[in-house]
Amino acid sequence: MIWIKLAFMFVQKEAYHKIKVELDAAKVNLVAVSKTKPNEDILALYELGQRAFGENYVQELVDKEASLPKDIQWHFIGHLQSNKVKYIAPFVHLIHGVDGEKLLKEINKQAIKSNRIISCLLQVHIASEETKFGFDKTELIALVDSGHLANYSNLVVKGLMGMASFTQDQALLKKEFDGLATTFNMVKEKLNNVHFDTLSMGMSGDYALAIKEGSTMVRIGSLLFGARNYVL
Ligand SMILES: *Cc1c(COP(=O)(O)O)cnc(C)c1O
Repeated sequence: MIWIKLAFMFVQKEAYHKIKVELDAAKVNLVAVSKTKPNEDILALYELGQRAFGENYVQELVDKEASLPKDIQWHFIGHLQSNKVKYIAPFVHLIHGVDGEKLLKEINKQAIKSNRIISCLLQVHIASEETKFGFDKTELIALVDSGHLANYSNLVVKGLMGMASFTQDQALLKKEFDGLATTFNMVKEKLNNVHFDTLSMGMSGDYALAIKEGSTMVRIGSLLFGARNYVL
């Protein structure tokens, strides 16, 4: 049954080219989500020109960063615990899932220690499922209105990130993406800040719709790397 295993392991180079053409036309950035995938798969896309890769697990990211080319831009897209920020602070390019002030404080503290400015996205809870992390809209607006974001000397809030419901229901997905885009525009206006330009929404199953609704950055894993197999 070796052929089944191989079918899951090949990097989807043709899909990469097709997706890149679509995204470039829409001026949308691609984060290739490489969680659970081996270094060889990352290098295969790197050789095609891809530089932005997304990871969900701190230890896996630290190991990959140490052994892969230094011009890779590493995006942390998972749920980040405050006590682990220190491991990625020296190199991380963008932290997508910032969901509380405690985490903002810790990122700023570790950015100072690393003598860096760290870019972040605030995660907004848009899915109907309970399990997805993030600020709700009211909490987010309260944080923005508090003016606290200006206190973090070594942190730049570049935008918002959201994960839609895991569903095929296009009307529900559209509603969730549209809601996030509206919140994004509202916060952008309030902050009146040129750095606030990134709306990270859309994954393998829903990226086309996310782009229609205003996404500027999509996070695509399985369409590029094949299905993830946690058992192997
Ligand atoms: C895994 C993951 C993705 C990519 O999912 P695919 O469906 O494989 O494209 C995107 N965003 C986050 C936050 C993820 O955890």
